[in-house]
Formats: sequence, C-alpha cells, structure tokens
Amino acid sequence: MEELLNGLNEAQQEAAASTEGYIRVIAGAGSGKTRALTHRYAYIVDELGVEPSNILSVTFTNKAANEMKRRVKKLIGGEQDTGFITTYHGFCVRVLREDIHRLFYPKNFTILDVEDQKILLREIFEDMELKMNDKTFKRILDKLGMLKGNTHYVHQLVMRGEMPVAEETGDLDSQIIQRYLKKQKRVFGLDFDDLLNFTFVLFDQYKEVLEKWQERLFYIQVDEFQDSSLKQFELVKMLAEKHGNLFVVGDPDQTIYEWRGADPKYMVDFESYFKDTQTIFLNRNYRSTPEILSLGNSLIQNNYFRVDKDMVTENPHGLKVVHYHGKDELKEAKWVVQRIKELIDKEGVSLKEIAVMYRANYLSRFIEQELIHENIEYTIFGGFKFFDRKEIKDALAHLRMVAVGDDLSFMRIVNVPKRQIGKKRMKFLRETAERDGLSLYETLKKYAEHPHLRNTGAKDFIQSIETLKERSEEGSISELLQEALQRTGYEAYIREDGDQDRLDHLSELLHSIVLYEQSLGEELSLEEYLQMISLYTDDDRDHQQESVKMMTIHTAKGLEFPYVFVVGMTENILPNVRALRQRKERALEEERRLAYVAVTRAEKELYLTESEGFQHGGLKKYPSRFIFEVDENLYNQVGDIDPALLEEAREFIRSSYHVKEMEQMEGYKKGVRVKHPVFGAGTIEDIDWKKNTYLIFFDQLKAPRPISRNFKKLEKIEK
Ligand code: ATP
Ligand code: MG
Repeated sequence: MEELLNGLNEAQQEAAASTEGYIRVIAGAGSGKTRALTHRYAYIVDELGVEPSNILSVTFTNKAANEMKRRVKKLIGGEQDTGFITTYHGFCVRVLREDIHRLFYPKNFTILDVEDQKILLREIFEDMELKMNDKTFKRILDKLGMLKGNTHYVHQLVMRGEMPVAEETGDLDSQIIQRYLKKQKRVFGLDFDDLLNFTFVLFDQYKEVLEKWQERLFYIQVDEFQDSSLKQFELVKMLAEKHGNLFVVGDPDQTIYEWRGADPKYMVDFESYFKDTQTIFLNRNYRSTPEILSLGNSLIQNNYFRVDKDMVTENPHGLKVVHYHGKDELKEAKWVVQRIKELIDKEGVSLKEIAVMYRANYLSRFIEQELIHENIEYTIFGGFKFFDRKEIKDALAHLRMVAVGDDLSFMRIVNVPKRQIGKKRMKFLRETAERDGLSLYETLKKYAEHPHLRNTGAKDFIQSIETLKERSEEGSISELLQEALQRTGYEAYIREDGDQDRLDHLSELLHSIVLYEQSLGEELSLEEYLQMISLYTDDDRDHQQESVKMMTIHTAKGLEFPYVFVVGMTENILPNVRALRQRKERALEEERRLAYVAVTRAEKELYLTESEGFQHGGLKKYPSRFIFEVDENLYNQVGDIDPALLEEAREFIRSSYHVKEMEQMEGYKKGVRVKHPVFGAGTIEDIDWKKNTYLIFFDQLKAPRPISRNFKKLEKIEK
C-alpha cells in the first residue's frame, strides 16, 4: 500500500483511498487527476481485493481509455481483465452484446459508422430515384442526429414497431429518414447515438437488467467528467444507485464538447445530485514549467463563467513561451519545422517528445509538407482516417461477411470486383430478401440458379465465402484476411487499379492484426476483433513509434508532451469563425477553453504560431485574441511583425468584443462597481451561481447583501 500511494501527494492519496460514496475531484490541467484515478483503481484491486470486473472506469476517447488501461496494468500487473476500463460507447457495446435481445435485436448487431450510414442512404436515394450528393447526406444525417437527441424514437422503433417522424423536417426529408430507420432496423445496425440510447432505454425499461449491471459494478469512476452529456451522466447515475460508489474527476475549464451536449454543471453541481458528496481539490501542477502554467492561467482567467482555481508548481523554470508571427502559412510552417529540427539535431530531443496541435484538421497540411521536405517522421492522430479508407472498410467487410454475414458487408463487397450484380440485380435481391425474410447473402444462395442470377459471379462469390467460413474455424485472423483478399479477387482488383497506396494500406492493416495477435498472446476471436475495430475512430492506431505527433486540440485532451507547437493561432481559426459569428460569449468561451487545453498539454516548451496566410474570403488575418489577452510579459514575440498590423488587430478585436451586451445579458463580473436604487453604490464581492445572486458590499452598509442577478435595477458605475 505504501508503494501504491507513494507516488501521490496528500490530496491525491486521499482521492485514491476514498473508495466509498460519492466523490468528486476538481482540479486544473496537469494536477494529477488521471494519476489519482488510476491509482485509486489499483488501490481498490490490490488493497480491497475487488476484481477488476467489478470496477467500471470510463473516459471519453479510445486513446485515453487505452492509456488508462496501460497505466493500471503497470500498477496491478498485466494478467487481469480490464475490459471495464473503457469509453462510454465501449461500455454500451458490452451491455448491448449481453442484453439487447430484450429489445428484439440480435447480439451480433452491427455498429454503423458514418460511412455505413451513407451506404444506407445511397440505397434509399436509389430506391426513391433521388439525386444524391454529400451535402444532402450531411443534412439528413444532421436531422437524424437531432431526432436521436432523445430516446423517444427507440421506444417507437423497438417496442411498437412504429416509425417515428423526424420533427421540423420537410416532407421528403422525413420520408428519407423513415426509410432510413426502417433499413437500419432491418440490418440490425446501431450508430454511435443508438449505442447510448439503446442502453439507456434498456436500463430504464428492464429493471432486472439494470439491477444486474448495478450488482456487477461496485465501483464506478469517470475521467474528464466535465464533458459528460445529460445522457452519459444519467447512465452513470443509474448504475451507481445501488452501491453508491461514484468517483468523478474533471476540470470545468477544459469543457470542450458543449457543442455536442456536454455540460459542466454535472461536475460543478455534483453535490446537488448526490447528498454527502466529498470534494477533493488538487492544486499542484506536475506537468508544466512555471512559465507555461502562468500563461495558461493568464489565458483562462478571461473566461467569465468559471470558478477560479489557484494552481502552483514546483517544477524547475524553463524557456519563456514563444509567439511566432509569419507573413504566410508557408513561413509559419517553415519556422515550426526549423525549430523542430533544432530541437532534434542540437538539443537531443527525440521525435516522440514533440507534438503539433491545431484547431482543425485542414491546418496540418502545410506542416506535413515541411516535415516531409525535411525528412522528419510524423504521425497524425485522427484526420488520417485509416479505418475510413475504402479499401480498409472493404477488407474488414470480408471478415464481417464471414463472421456475421450481414447485409451491409454484403452490399459493400458482393460486386467488388465486378460480378455482374449491379443495381437491377441488387434490387431483385433486396425485394426477394424482404419477401422471404432472409438476409441478402442467404437470398443469393437460395436463388443462385435463378435466371436473374445464373450468369453472374454469384456462385464464385458464394463458394469463396463458404470456404472462408470453414477456414475461420482454425487459423489466425491475419491468415484468414489474407486468404479472403486473395480468394475473392479483391487484392487483384486493387492491384489492377494500380494504386500502390491502397495496397500499402491493406498490408498495414494485416500488419496491425499480426501485432494484435502477438501482443495479446492469447486467442483473439474474429468476433472480438471485429467488435474492437468497429469502435475504432481513426485516432487509435499504435503510436509508440519515433515520430512527431500531430493532432487536433480535441484529440489532445488528457495527453501531455514535452514540446508543444500550437499552430494556426489566428482569429477566425482559434477562436473559429462560427464562434465569432454567433457573437455569443458562451461560444467564445468554449474556444478559449480549447486554447487552454492546448497550452496546458506542454511540459517543457510551448510555441504559439500564426500567420497572415490561410486567407479565405479575403479577410485579413490577425493573431488570435487569445494571444493578446495573455499578459505580455509571459511570452516572447518573434518573427516578422509589423507594429501597425498589431495595432490594427487590437482595434479589430476590441470592436468585436461584446462586453457591454454581454454584461447586460449575463450580469456583472466580480469586482464591478454598481449602483442600487436603495442602497446606493457598492462592489460585487462574490457571485453565488447556485442561488443566482451577487454578494454586494454597499458602501453605506456594514455587511454584504445578496442581491438577485435578475434584479434589473442594478447599474454599472465607474470606480
Ligand atoms: P489533465 O487535466 O490534462 O487531464 P491531469 O490532472 O489528469 O491532467 P495527469 O495526467 O494525471 O494530470 O498528471 C500530469 C503529469 O503529472 C503526469 O505526467 C503525471 O505522471 C504527473 N504527476 C501527477 N501527480 C504526480 C505526483 N504526485 N508526483 C509526481 N508526478 C505526478
Ligand atoms: Mg487527465
């Protein structure tokens, strides 16, 4: 026990050893929240003797979940099953694989990603003889997402078999959406929204299912809790009800998914949901130099909706943060890559210690070009979309076809390479399948001799699949995949296409499977592999190799790197154009939190760069307001900066703040002088967000008074 708690400070030790009840840890970036959480997990296993299968530990991204797993395994040894260290979606998949039959879905339901969704849509458009393009798809998918914002549709779809109608959609769109839902049900496909919604409905409707899971999960802990949505919050709340052991950690200043429904109030008002909440604060930062920490603090203090935190560090001093300004994006990229080269060549820094972050994927391209030019290895987290590539999806569809035989996989590969099963014959297959209540593949088998199908490649296809099914009983997955690609002619088809990249991707996929097989050292079943893969977002490949890491800020959450470059720190990029157009303080604050997440990833050195390039719409590019907001003494400015441009930028930014409007709308800040019609002048000492009141010290009264924030007759006055 000594050992386990040794690497923790007092507050962290308290967190790690507080195993019973409702506990929340609120603390800033780099204060060791995740560390406390992983040690707590190990403490529960090693000191309380609880099995890992009784502990649920959730976080948001696969990358963070894997990292958590790795840290826990280091503490408790590698043997134990840590399957419940996972993401929300991963957990839902586990529940559904076990209990979805209650909702009349089979356990081997298919997980649909955006590409799969588009396949379904494409089919519907064909059936309805509509013109299709990516824009309409996106519109339909957005509307679908809205419909799935609550769980009504699950009830209708599953329980009563009725078709829900999407609200606020035009006639045609709602027709498409209805057809889509019908199709989705027919292939037993669940998209990411469905995973959460179905689990929720399952728990809500079947008490015995909920009880079973409650019973099993004695301890529940959540990392990055500030980004929980209502549904996610309710899910853990439900699960924790029986044993009452819920441990959450987070930092409200790092909420970056408000646009997707995250709400930090579950973190901030935690004690109002659970009585007897224990709260632990951590205030020592272990990650960054004092220089980086001060800059982060100075930035986030500009947010109005926040609870102030005092962070200190005892880490040694380092270099001052650098702000570089370039004339165009090429100069910016060159400067960044030159600095990276210096770090590597002159300062002995290794590639994997360096990370480049940006607001949006498209910003990586210039940096990539320069890195390639300089022969520096790099890896992109996300954006690369390995598993979104057509050839990868096709290859996996072969495996799925063998394991599951689902319609989606069938549609993907039956006519690739061409087997004369085009639109017309597909239509025949679909209609027949519907009539006979069979899957498309079963239908193809049944009617292979039908005049409609006789002269096609149907029989060859069936034979390949059947042989592969037999093979799948023995042998490894990598062997099976290799054989599948050869036997079905898929590899030859890609080869003829002459696109070497695609062949490379296929061998990369094979290679990654071999690595899995080796690292697990045990038998990996085809089903397990497919399940794992279907949850992959593109950012989860193995990134241990020696290379510079590039990623969006969203992807970087929870991670840390010794040397960090935040590029594209430009108005309209960070903060992004949408936030600025909305002219809403809330949206701007989320952008500022995003910038805060970026700068707090850095351990030793931090570079903020921007340029007058990346122009669209002829707008002049100014440095991000987030740079101007930070105390000037906290960074050095380098590069080709024209003082006149800086002045112009300041003016531009000043004019686009809406402090006045915001104050009228949202109230006043701490420290503001106000005039009250009865009590006269006073100073706002504090704000009680829960009671929605100001605590005002009026000059003529002896004690502060609480005054409602909704009280209209408070006027702001000068000092
Ligand atoms: P974020 O908000 O960014 O997720 P966090 O609060 O989860 O940050 P961690 O990632 O847990 O912070 O810790 C930051 C770094 O500090 C890690 O490298 C961790 O190993 C180190 N660290 C945390 N606590 C201690 C400690 N008590 N002693 C030494 N190092 C520590
Ligand atoms: Mg963390």
